[in-house]
Amino acid sequence: MRRALCMVLILCILSCVFSLSSLAEEKGEISVEPINFENRDFIKGMDISSLISLEEASVKFFDENGKEDDLLRILRKNGVNYLRVRVWNDPFDENGNSYGGGHNDIETACLLAGRAAKYGLKLLIDFHYSDFWADPAKQKAPKDWENYTVDQKCDAIREFTTSSLKKIIASGGDIGMVQIGNETTTGICGVTARADMAKLFKAGAEAVRKIDENILVALHFTNPECTAYMKGLADFLDRYQVDYDVFASSYYPYWHGSLENLKDVFDYVAETYHKYTIVAETSYAYTLEDTDGHPNTVNRWNNMLGDDLLWEFSPQGQADELRAVMNAVNSIEDQKGLGVFYWEGAWIAVSDLSGLSGKEYTEQLNRNKALWEQYGCGWASSYAKEYNPDDAGRYYGGSAVDNQAFFDARGRALPSLKAFLKISGYERSYLLGDADDDDSVTIVDATSIQKHLASITFLDEIGSLAADIENTDKVSILDATYIQRHLASYTVPYEIGGIRFC
Ligand code: CA
Repeated sequence: MRRALCMVLILCILSCVFSLSSLAEEKGEISVEPINFENRDFIKGMDISSLISLEEASVKFFDENGKEDDLLRILRKNGVNYLRVRVWNDPFDENGNSYGGGHNDIETACLLAGRAAKYGLKLLIDFHYSDFWADPAKQKAPKDWENYTVDQKCDAIREFTTSSLKKIIASGGDIGMVQIGNETTTGICGVTARADMAKLFKAGAEAVRKIDENILVALHFTNPECTAYMKGLADFLDRYQVDYDVFASSYYPYWHGSLENLKDVFDYVAETYHKYTIVAETSYAYTLEDTDGHPNTVNRWNNMLGDDLLWEFSPQGQADELRAVMNAVNSIEDQKGLGVFYWEGAWIAVSDLSGLSGKEYTEQLNRNKALWEQYGCGWASSYAKEYNPDDAGRYYGGSAVDNQAFFDARGRALPSLKAFLKISGYERSYLLGDADDDDSVTIVDATSIQKHLASITFLDEIGSLAADIENTDKVSILDATYIQRHLASYTVPYEIGGIRFC
């Protein structure tokens, strides 16, 4: 009997130890070595173009503590400093139904721009000059431009670029960079001859320059594994004297070779043509499971994955990939590597199908399908058929990248999101003035400072940093006064409530 009790006790202890360690794993701190960035404004960006449509379908996002918040604020607090937003010309059918993919019309871009500005996030505006996805396989001109000559398309690009950028700026958007076309490796806007492509690129660049000469002009290509071809594109741009600042490439490790290939191309562009370089799109799967009922591009049956991938499919693997890509871009010759954008790091399930089966699965999938159609929050809706019969017409549906997001299927931040902070050498963020560390600046913060100074209760380490409004390395009564003045809407010479890192 005693021996049996002993065994039970041992088993209990073992299971406790096991569950504690799996709890720690689940809580999942990731580890990432910081990068010594050559440029302190190195772009740690994310494409979040589908966000508005997801919100319309009632998708919510939660920070690492489980607190619901604006996705953009969660990203900023985790060290993301730049957003990429795609723009399509007229992504609706004649009845106003969205082609999906997040709409991506100029009104949607303006909504994102205004919100981004609130959190000090800069913007890369990604013009596709199409009504739907533009990529190496499709570069179809917008419906309205279908019968235009090349010269007419140049005028249309000038006009559309100018009017769109003006609207985004009027919405508060802080535009740092503009892409003239998306993945324009073999063509742009229905044009494939190199001389004609050059004309269209020039027209777009001209429009951007006129709006603001400080905005960087980017051209975006794919397939850095075809090193000679990519270098040839830079040669072509030079031959036709195309005006641009940034040579951008996608880099998806499953398809685009090694980071050495990428670096080889970027170093060539930097050394030969003195252009900046960015990775405009990258991503990595944290799981090979699907969560929304629409097949993912990266999955366990994908024969393109190969054995040569360097990172595991986990949040840690995601963080490792992000760091490796940023490290490669940071090491480009002559400090010409500007940064990296993660592609659609929040395109999660409209509702989580994980663990469901049979009738339950089918019913929930049908609800998801209805949401994708109604809100355009899947990669394509059936309404896109008229514009893209082959691809959208056959395969329309939900998110094909929900397993590559930095949020799980319920919108909770994965541990990997912290990679953006850790890569920059930070462990966490706080709001200036938020002395009690509750993610908002209120009168309680001023009182906490007063109590600290009167030795009644003491601020902790983060609280002391957040309370030091004057940045004098010590908390004083003036700090409390600044918070009070800020709350009473007086002008204060400090950005109280602004995001800081430590
Ligand atoms: Ca999916």
